[in-house]
Amino acid sequence: MKIVNVETFLVPPRWLFCRVETDEGVVGWGEPVVEGRAEAVRAAVHVLAEYLVGQDPLRIEDHWQVMANGGFYRGGPVLSSALAGLDQALWDIAGKTYGVPVHALLGGPVRDRVRMYAWVGGDDPSELADSITERIEAGFSAVKMNVGGLLPPLATMADVTAMVDRAAQAREVLGPDRDFAVDFHGRISAADARRILPLLAPYQPMFAEEPILPDRPHLLRDVVTASSVPVATGERLYSRWDFRPVLDAGVAVVQPDLSHAGGISETRRIAALAEVWDAKLAPHCPLGPIALAASLQVAFSTPNFLIQEHSIGIHYNEEADLLDYVVDPEVFRFVDGHATRSDAPGLGVQVDEAAVRRADETGHAWRNPVWRRADGGLAEW
Ligand SMILES: [Mg+2]
Repeated sequence: MKIVNVETFLVPPRWLFCRVETDEGVVGWGEPVVEGRAEAVRAAVHVLAEYLVGQDPLRIEDHWQVMANGGFYRGGPVLSSALAGLDQALWDIAGKTYGVPVHALLGGPVRDRVRMYAWVGGDDPSELADSITERIEAGFSAVKMNVGGLLPPLATMADVTAMVDRAAQAREVLGPDRDFAVDFHGRISAADARRILPLLAPYQPMFAEEPILPDRPHLLRDVVTASSVPVATGERLYSRWDFRPVLDAGVAVVQPDLSHAGGISETRRIAALAEVWDAKLAPHCPLGPIALAASLQVAFSTPNFLIQEHSIGIHYNEEADLLDYVVDPEVFRFVDGHATRSDAPGLGVQVDEAAVRRADETGHAWRNPVWRRADGGLAEW
């Protein structure tokens, strides 16, 4: 079997899909994207496709090595995401070729269902309670929320109080048997993180995500030890080497993104590395159906898995949603807040190719907002 063609599709709301075709008619799908930089990843995919076309798709690890390490310049979001999507597509092809789900190729399932969390609210603190109640009624036992929006360089007492109130309100609605996680989006400084996390601790969030920016792992240990709140990070880290320093700093939860961190192959290795530090895996996935399907394959086969993110109904998905691109949306119907294991071959999702081709004709030019403070200076989004 040989790879004969690699195509990419820029689809709303902000995604990029790739389709890898073989001479035996087996087709694999992947989702190589960096949100806001999809066109750059698209170009990188086509550079890697020069190598892939003509190759045997079943030599996944060898291709991973060449695509990751065969170029003198390597790593970073664009190249690692291009590699990630192609890696997903190769695993999809392998599963379909052998007639088994990818999790069977990864050693078989270690659990029967996968706990999911749902997003609540966007950056607007209003209506938090209603939003959480809706998710509980939909069956979820865990939610994640932003705690603060546009913030000054050092948070004011009012900013901090608002964050603490939000956590208190979430806990009150959820009760002691459900979980909430808080996402800081790297919006606060290390000094603020050390100040704020202990104040959130009484409400026992499941984890605090990206309390500081990912490029300062040297400050993370002090943030971790400042409170009892488990610290999570990793959606902006791209390899096992990127994860080593944050694990050393004591993070409790690693959040590689299956579409950024070298795909299924590298995420599995990051999970195994995390086990050495007793850290749990919670794959980042505010993306489309292929990225979610790939995440679930890893979740079903990875012992130190914690919980899975998904983007259905997330605030980013305004023009299109995850279910618009799948033939059978049932695969993403969660029961009691859990994804159900399926024996469908490959990634286990049937992509609606006609819908994808149609969507690509429109494409998108999604960019994240650029936030500025009252003084005109740039703020973290
Ligand atoms: Mg996040």
